[in-house]
Amino acid sequence: MKIKAEPLRSLVAEIFRVAGCSADEAGRIAEDLVMANLVGHDSHGVVRTQRYIESLRAGAVVPDGSLETVIDGGAFAVVDGNYGFGQTIGPLACRLGIEKASTHGVSVIGLRRSGHLGRIGRYAEMAAEAGQVSIHLVNVSSSTLVAPFGAIDRRMGTNPVSIGVPVDKRTPLILDFATSVVAEGKALVALNGGKAIPADALVTPDGRRTGDPAVLYGPLEPGRAPNPRNGPGALRAMGDHKGSGLALMCELLAGALIGSDTAGPPPKRHGNGMLSIYLDVERVAPGNQAMVDVVNYVDWFVTAQPTSPDSEVLLPGEPERRRRAERELHGIELADATWASITDAAASV
Ligand code: NAD
Repeated sequence: MKIKAEPLRSLVAEIFRVAGCSADEAGRIAEDLVMANLVGHDSHGVVRTQRYIESLRAGAVVPDGSLETVIDGGAFAVVDGNYGFGQTIGPLACRLGIEKASTHGVSVIGLRRSGHLGRIGRYAEMAAEAGQVSIHLVNVSSSTLVAPFGAIDRRMGTNPVSIGVPVDKRTPLILDFATSVVAEGKALVALNGGKAIPADALVTPDGRRTGDPAVLYGPLEPGRAPNPRNGPGALRAMGDHKGSGLALMCELLAGALIGSDTAGPPPKRHGNGMLSIYLDVERVAPGNQAMVDVVNYVDWFVTAQPTSPDSEVLLPGEPERRRRAERELHGIELADATWASITDAAASV
């Protein structure tokens, strides 16, 4: 089916409001999920509704949470989300980082134990809007889905990384990806009959590469969200040893070192840790020269000759911008199983 963003947003917001979130928080969750669909990351869109509702009901995520300051070191802070919804906690932590970087030029924020933070690029977008470069390294506690390079066994989360760079008066560059070949939600979308995932996205228990999402989810339980913990195989890290190393660093920097949880044993509560670095461009590169150099370089970058006449050189963030323009106009396409999971979630509340 195809549905316009607005009725979908209202429906999803209503589900979260009836389930126990304030109207403000329910609106924030719906806005974030639908925005992920609009920009083409269906993996982080409304397909998550049922799973979020199950987490809320199980007490794994807490409605209307707030940020607890653990350490305030001036330009850096360690804050605890205490498993509040990521759509509430994430923007609070991001605003704190932006505020501190406006004062000090740079800032570092270690966010512990947030509920699922969704699409990490949104935090890079928030910072870029404030004229700041930002880098976000994220881990996923208790979501041990990704095998290290050369291995079969799961050891890491899908540990996303996002970097945002403002580009003078143009739209910012937003790099935002999971360090696995695909985000787990993309396997979920494929399982639900949506876009297929690459044939090397997963590894089977006997070491073969496959694109079959059933390897991740195992047998499905009727009426329940598919659980990626149940499958016999694992997701593979992107970029072979390099992506595997980057994902490991996310576990260490966004998990262990800031006092959040890692994907390691014993099993933890599901959530995200995020280490974010913010740089206020006007403070760290006064004058206009840095931005002139950024613009000049980017303009030259995109003039690289494409490998074939039907391909083109895109900047990070460009595919998302194009998809959003298209989906705002024509609506969001949902797989039948995704729509059924939303109506199941609605019925359940
Ligand atoms: P992806 O593989 O689609 O890569 C997206 C990135 O690549 C974007 O920066 C995009 O602009 C860029 N890109 C795509 N095509 C391009 C092209 N042709 N040329 C140049 N650049 C191009 O993304 P993904 O790995 O599937 O991640 C999807 C989302 O999942 C992200 O928003 C990520 O933050 C999120 N995620 C969140 C969690 C979490 O626990 N919160 C975990 C994993 C992933």
